[in-house]
Amino acid sequence: MINFNKTNSLVPVIIQDSRTLQVLMLGYMNEEAFEKTKREGVVTFFSRSKGRLWTKGEESGNFLTVKSIDIDCDQDTILIKAVPENIVCHTGSFSCFGEKDSKGFLYELEDTVSKRIDEKREGSYTYSLYQKGINKMAQKVGEEAVELVIEAKDQNDELFKNEAADLMYHFLILLKAKGFTLEDIEEILKNRS
Ligand code: AMP
Ligand code: ZN
Ligand code: ZN
Ligand code: ZN
Repeated sequence: MINFNKTNSLVPVIIQDSRTLQVLMLGYMNEEAFEKTKREGVVTFFSRSKGRLWTKGEESGNFLTVKSIDIDCDQDTILIKAVPENIVCHTGSFSCFGEKDSKGFLYELEDTVSKRIDEKREGSYTYSLYQKGINKMAQKVGEEAVELVIEAKDQNDELFKNEAADLMYHFLILLKAKGFTLEDIEEILKNRS
């Protein structure tokens, strides 16, 4: 339970991208904003400059959809993991602290691959490979792995990196086709260590 009195009614709220964990922005909530956020599943702050409740995205449409809410060790700061709609900062940058963090790019690529397949996008290489079936997708992963092995023995860094990228991309397609996500695989790796 957050103690809104202890903090003089306003509590800082850190907003993190639920997929990539990039920090997107910081705002403040009073109890009313906190309750509204929990109730509606989109982030509403108390804006100090506007002097009222402010649902992020109310003008721009760039809402923040809540995935989880955590309270810190001494109950005076809130951490919200959310899915951002488009961009977050009113200056036009992705996050209030800068542009998209490339560390989260694999998750974005996973989302893109998943969308191409779900929406049966015509003309998409991803979807056309998917349509050829699981054997073909698995075979592509095998081919790219072999190409990577060949480049590993060579001295050409660019070719090696490109084959590594091909392997990752095809691996994402195969994962999706099997109904799994990167997170499922991460779980296995985490539990091994
Ligand atoms: P929005 O809530 O995105 O519709 O934006 C409405 C107004 O809120 C903008 O014109 C800005 O004044 C302000 N604003 C929007 N996003 C941010 C942000 N990330 N940080 C600070 N102020 C913001
Ligand atoms: Zn604290
Ligand atoms: Zn900003
Ligand atoms: Zn290749």
